[in-house]
Amino acid sequence: RRPARPHRDLVYLSHAAPAHLQHNPTIRVMQWNILAQALGEGKDGFIRCPLDALNWQERKYLILEEILTYRPDILCLQEVDHYYDTFQPIMSGLGYHGSFLAKPWSPCLDVEQNNGPDGCALFYRRSRFSLQATAHLRLSAMMLPTNQVAIVQTLTCRATGRQLCVAVTHLKARSGWERLRSAQGTDLLHSLRTITSQTAGGQNQVVSALPLVVCGDFNAEPSEDVYRRFRSSPLGLDSAYKLLSSDGQTEPPYTTWKIRPSGESCSTLDYIWYTQNALSVECLLDLPTEDQIGPDRLPSYHYPSDHLSLLCDISFRDEPHRLM
Ligand code: NDP
Ligand code: CA
Repeated sequence: RRPARPHRDLVYLSHAAPAHLQHNPTIRVMQWNILAQALGEGKDGFIRCPLDALNWQERKYLILEEILTYRPDILCLQEVDHYYDTFQPIMSGLGYHGSFLAKPWSPCLDVEQNNGPDGCALFYRRSRFSLQATAHLRLSAMMLPTNQVAIVQTLTCRATGRQLCVAVTHLKARSGWERLRSAQGTDLLHSLRTITSQTAGGQNQVVSALPLVVCGDFNAEPSEDVYRRFRSSPLGLDSAYKLLSSDGQTEPPYTTWKIRPSGESCSTLDYIWYTQNALSVECLLDLPTEDQIGPDRLPSYHYPSDHLSLLCDISFRDEPHRLM
């Protein structure tokens, strides 16, 4: 009854060295808004998706299958409302360390028989990284606390000793809230700047900034102010999925595609940002075609969320002194 999940190819970028020639092991990063169970069943109104396709006892295996097909080293999720009973224990058994931060007033709590608040989760593979620090952030907008959160972790790569900062967030949804999203982005960028700044012992002078990966459902098209702020921040971030386009400059046409009573919505809202001068993207998971997604769009019997997973392999660029 459930058709197979759509097949997606890993697209290697032309500059990427073949895996056997790479001296820097790549780090696989996955970004995914998995659709909170309570919102999918009780709030979203996906009129072309039968409620039966959203049954948690089956849908959870489609989510896990998607994750385990690609076996990311770093996994960033939004809309997680089954952390403690599902993802934490299962991912822990598979060798991952997890961290969860609930939204302060999750809309899931308005749904009858909810499973608790939804929030962001960040997992990393314990065999590859050790944890240096974790920050749980409640995002502010113009100094006022909002209902959106972020997790930021500083990790050390066990093989190379190199440090990497990883962040996951889910910004305010809906049209009309562009200015709030922008302010939340500004607040997150400010925190990230502080966290990634490495200062020389005892002094206040920034010696170097840690490489950074920021994954999120930004709820913002590339034309929005918050996107521009991330693109032009002093952190030197760029969006990985642009590299899938033929000119390398264009975001994909969609990362989410759904049909609600208000109509069809096909948009690019999800991103993997990375520090351009310190990290290099080696490959990206392509997006399913319109035919693969199907006429009823997402979610469906064959894909468990209205957002598509994003996945890329990144590696550390050689530091200048190592090239000499
Ligand atoms: P958001 O506006 O950010 O959206 C919350 C969720 O709704 C997101 O996961 C979003 O998914 C989804 N969503 C987006 N568009 C639609 C749509 N058209 N129809 C249905 N769902 C949609 O919510 P906030 O975090 O700002 O929280 C607002 C809600 O939280 C309120 O509606 C209320 O229910 C609750 N709340 C309760 C409070 C209390 O005192 N109990 C206080 C404050 C809020 P996606 O990101 O995938 O688009
Ligand atoms: Ca949603």
